[in-house]
Amino acid sequence: MSHVMNTYARLPVAFERGEGVWLWDASGKRYLDAVAGVAVCGLGHGHPKFTAALREQAGKLVHTSNLYEITLQEKLADRLAAVSGMDNVFFCNSGCEANEAAIKLARLYGHRKNIESPAIVVMDKAFHGRTLATLSATGSRKVQAGFEPLVAGFVRVPFDDLDAVKRVAEVNRSVVAVLVELLQGEGGIIVCHDGYLRGLREICEAHGWLLMLDEVQSGTGRTGRWFAFQHSGVMPDVMPLAKGLANGVPIGACLAAGPAAQLFKPGNHGSTFGGNPLACAAALATLSIIEDERLMENAVKQGDFIRAEIARRLADAKGVREIRGKGLMIGVELEQPCGELVQQALDRGLLINVTADNVIRLLPPLVLKREEAEHLLATLVPLIAAFLDRQSAPQAAQTA
Ligand SMILES: *Cc1c(COP(=O)(O)O)cnc(C)c1O
Repeated sequence: MSHVMNTYARLPVAFERGEGVWLWDASGKRYLDAVAGVAVCGLGHGHPKFTAALREQAGKLVHTSNLYEITLQEKLADRLAAVSGMDNVFFCNSGCEANEAAIKLARLYGHRKNIESPAIVVMDKAFHGRTLATLSATGSRKVQAGFEPLVAGFVRVPFDDLDAVKRVAEVNRSVVAVLVELLQGEGGIIVCHDGYLRGLREICEAHGWLLMLDEVQSGTGRTGRWFAFQHSGVMPDVMPLAKGLANGVPIGACLAAGPAAQLFKPGNHGSTFGGNPLACAAALATLSIIEDERLMENAVKQGDFIRAEIARRLADAKGVREIRGKGLMIGVELEQPCGELVQQALDRGLLINVTADNVIRLLPPLVLKREEAEHLLATLVPLIAAFLDRQSAPQAAQTA
């Protein structure tokens, strides 16, 4: 019996080492990693410069706590402010913690305005994490079931629907913020329409709400810009980050601008590990390498290529609903649940993910090269085609 708690339906494989987009298991079998630790390892595995930065910092100093000044934390905050245009940062260790900080900021903001019971607008199919507050904000019954009572203070609306948010504004005087993913990751790589963010910004301005963008998955270069909001030129007030920020060393960050940046005072929030020297050195190295190696440009190039090629190669197949995404955050939605593809891909040395039952999710490292993208396509497309053939066969028999 395993002494690890039974919280994951794990695939029957363990990896021993990695290099770039490749992983090897103990038997020496090689896999192309198109999941990247769930949008975490943007630099791929074993990046020499990243490894050197980690080694160097590990040898100097790992942790001192936030009882003292941490120079690397100041440096990382400067760097994040520079690339995002935000004012300041709270450091923690994960995406849910970054969202917890955002939720606490929104509540503090509400109380400063004498709103007794501040509420936050959240979206259907959203994913914000597994702590009690963040699973309450998450728009999935599967994540919430069994953990009631949920944390109060969330008002749910359909994603990508500005009128629904406006209707909430008309009737609910307790709302203080909107929390939203611009590209819903776990929800199925659902992309909002072009004017959505601008529309949300206008509603937030009109009602004095904070616009809080959960860029935990879409941030740190994954969509081809540092942050997904930068495709639109609309600024958030609060932005939680995590996943790709330190290439696998645990870190979370909650960025804030304007009034939201002035809310926390000593004693309001904290974290023992948050922003320790090792994690900050890892994040600083990650940001430098993304910039130096032009990985955001590469994400756009390879992402456009992969989406276009999947569309072209499956043009005659029946059962593909949509191919979408931005940069190297890619979703292929099929008409039928397709979880079985994960194991089939694994057998053929390709790591993919299926989310929301019927969306194949590809989140390869940002270092993915053209020939590696070709390899990914050459493995994945025939698998999808064969799956769709099997799906349409019994249906054809039924209608005959
Ligand atoms: C993964 C994810 C989270 C949760 O991050 P953890 O580090 O697992 O707590 C929150 N929001 C979004 C958008 C995510 O993709």
